[in-house]
Amino acid sequence: MKIAFFCIPAHGHTNPTLGVVRELIARGHEVWYYSYELMRAKIESTGAHFVPCDAYDPQMTLSEEDGARIGKDLAFSTRLIVELTLALDDAIVADMKRLQPDVIVADSMAFWGKLIAGKLGVPFVSSTTTFAFNKESARVMQQSPKSLFSMLLSLPKINKSLRPLREKGYAVKSVLDIIQNDNDTDTVVYTSPEFQPCAESFSDHYAFVGPILRGAEQPLETSEQPTVYISLGTVDNRHPDFYRSCLAALADRPCRVILSAGESTDIAALGQIPANCTVAPRVDQMAVLSVCDAFLTHCGMNSASEALFYGVPLILFPQTPEQHGVANRAAELGAGVFLESGDSAAIRAAVDTVLHDGAYRAAAQRIAESFRRCGGAKAAADKIESVANDPVRPPAHHPVMTAVQLAQAVVGTIALALLIAAVFTHGSARLTLLLLGAALGTGSNVLKLLDVRKRKRKNA
Ligand code: UDP
Repeated sequence: MKIAFFCIPAHGHTNPTLGVVRELIARGHEVWYYSYELMRAKIESTGAHFVPCDAYDPQMTLSEEDGARIGKDLAFSTRLIVELTLALDDAIVADMKRLQPDVIVADSMAFWGKLIAGKLGVPFVSSTTTFAFNKESARVMQQSPKSLFSMLLSLPKINKSLRPLREKGYAVKSVLDIIQNDNDTDTVVYTSPEFQPCAESFSDHYAFVGPILRGAEQPLETSEQPTVYISLGTVDNRHPDFYRSCLAALADRPCRVILSAGESTDIAALGQIPANCTVAPRVDQMAVLSVCDAFLTHCGMNSASEALFYGVPLILFPQTPEQHGVANRAAELGAGVFLESGDSAAIRAAVDTVLHDGAYRAAAQRIAESFRRCGGAKAAADKIESVANDPVRPPAHHPVMTAVQLAQAVVGTIALALLIAAVFTHGSARLTLLLLGAALGTGSNVLKLLDVRKRKRKNA
């Protein structure tokens, strides 16, 4: 079988796929992996054919300021997706026509992989290294209503900017078709159903295979005192003031501190490093976590999953909305505490809490067990093979509407009827607003009800 992978140039998105690629190659399949020079060595180490995309990518020539807008500014990000897909179009479409892959697997942010699969009618699997996302999980992950609202407002304009894609044969109606997976999209998610918020609201096209982790490069010796590990990941990690606060907070405390400060942090500028602390641009994170007692993390999905896999409780210091989603879930399951501010007193208090209250470790260990029950790389490879072997997929088995949603629809309709009567009687502006709100809420639940019934009929 021939398989094409597409990914973005981020370690967190690439790492979980490496074990899957190895497993597919061990099963006798051939893999072509479209990515970036930065990832060449680790991709080639799996035995895949590496194909660089750097030359096509407008993001490679972005200013630092514009780079920071990716993922935050939807209109700007969409423009980049359109530009990159069009830049890749000739070369990759020609490649795919020659290669005739049985299936395309693309990271959920390597949108061009999904677009090209759709254009050429090649079976497609989304590789999702964050939580899977739908309306239910967004609610739990507490996406701010303001950001959702401003996104919805900007959609019509953004959708217009997709015209050049349509002219090139990409059947894409809305940017939402590109950036989110619906319940019919075959999707591999690298977490357990227990850690994924609202896992029951996803169809059986979603495979929750658990984190796929690499081993330690070299084992790290344990220490008599508890080990505290600090890292803000590999992307946005130049925060010298925060690192200085961490070192001040934990200097001479009864613990061993390991701080990964990132390749672009000037470690000399952090000042005198306390005797119980080690600071490095990068550490062997799997080795550190395997002997660690508390992890102060930015809550990147990989870092959080790696720690929880070893049952390490977390001190949660998220920086982006996605990281807030991970932090909220870890806190909800009792496996960590939020760091309320970056000052030394707050850091010391949070570290003490997590080290001394065994409930956090116990909760982390429960999540670790859920990870170990998942099928890992083998389950991901099974999913990819099944999509390639059976490209005409049956419609998804959609989770049924919950009793609560049904009750909302019924109660909402009654409330709406009462409000209409009240508006006709009193005619007040406040009631009109209430009416509008109720209409929106009821409308969404009634639509959901109709949709579920329609899908049930279709499935039957
Ligand atoms: N990592 C590492 N050594 C370090 C810091 C990070 O090996 O010193 C790895 C970590 O194990 C994880 C990845 O880099 O696999 C970071 O991914 P994550 O999703 O946590 O955060 P991002 O870097 O994408 O913000």
